[in-house]
Amino acid sequence: MILYIGKRVHRSVGDGPTAEECESCGSLDHDLIGTKRGWHLRQCKSCGLVAVKPLPDEDALRRIYQMSAGYYVTASRDLSATSPDAAIDLHRLLKGIGIKVGKLFDVGCSTGALIFHLRRFGWDVMGCDVNADAVAIARSSGLDVYHGSIDDVDCEQRHFDAVNMSDVLEHVKSPGRTLQRVHSLLNERGVLVLRIPNAGCGFARSTLFLSKITRLPWAQSEAPYHLFEYSHQSIKGILEKENRVSCGNNSI
Ligand SMILES: [Zn+2]
Repeated sequence: MILYIGKRVHRSVGDGPTAEECESCGSLDHDLIGTKRGWHLRQCKSCGLVAVKPLPDEDALRRIYQMSAGYYVTASRDLSATSPDAAIDLHRLLKGIGIKVGKLFDVGCSTGALIFHLRRFGWDVMGCDVNADAVAIARSSGLDVYHGSIDDVDCEQRHFDAVNMSDVLEHVKSPGRTLQRVHSLLNERGVLVLRIPNAGCGFARSTLFLSKITRLPWAQSEAPYHLFEYSHQSIKGILEKENRVSCGNNSI
C-alpha cells in the first residue's frame, strides 16, 4: 500500500494514546487474535489496526534486531550496480502529483540505493538509517545520511519538498509521534510518500479468517519485527488524527 500525503496545517506534539487505546481511532474495544513467535496480537474492533501487545521494550527490541546486525557488511558497496526502478517509480509518482524536483529525505534509507538514483534525476537528497553498516555504505557513495532514527535527525524544519518512508512505519513503537516528526520536516507544499504492508488486502483478510478458525499464527503478521499491521482505514486514521492531512493512494 502506498499513500501520498499532502501537508495542510501544523500541530503540536501530544501525549499519544495510552497502552489500552487504539493508536489509530482511540477505541478501547479489542480482540486478541492470537500469537506470532510468542507475541500477542490485538486487533481494534473499530478500525482493524493490529498491534503487538504489550509492545516490546528497548532491550527486547535490541535482541530482536541483533540477528540482522552485520547483514549489510556483505551487501554490494557499488550503488551504481543496484536497480534504479524504485527511484524511477518514486520520481514519476512525485511528478504526477505536481511535486517539482527539489529536496527529498528518505527515512530508513538503508544503503541509500534509492536516493543514489534519485540524485541522478536532480533531487537534492538526504536520509537516515539505524543500521551503522548500511549508513557506512551510503556515505562511501557520497550520500548525506544520518546514523539513527528520524528523531536523531538534526536538520532544518519545514525544509523538504518530499519525504519517503518505505517499510518503516510498521517497525516503530509510536507511529503517531514518528509521523509528527516527519510532518515537521515538510514544507507547506511538501508530501510524504509512505509504503507499508497492507493488512486489508485479500491475502491478509483470508489468512486472518483461517487463523481464527485453526488457531495457527496469522500468516500476514511479521511480529515482533512488525509492531503494527495497518489497514487503509487504520493508517488513514493515524495520519488524519496526528497531522490533520489529506491522503491519497495510488495502490492498495
Ligand atoms: Zn482503532
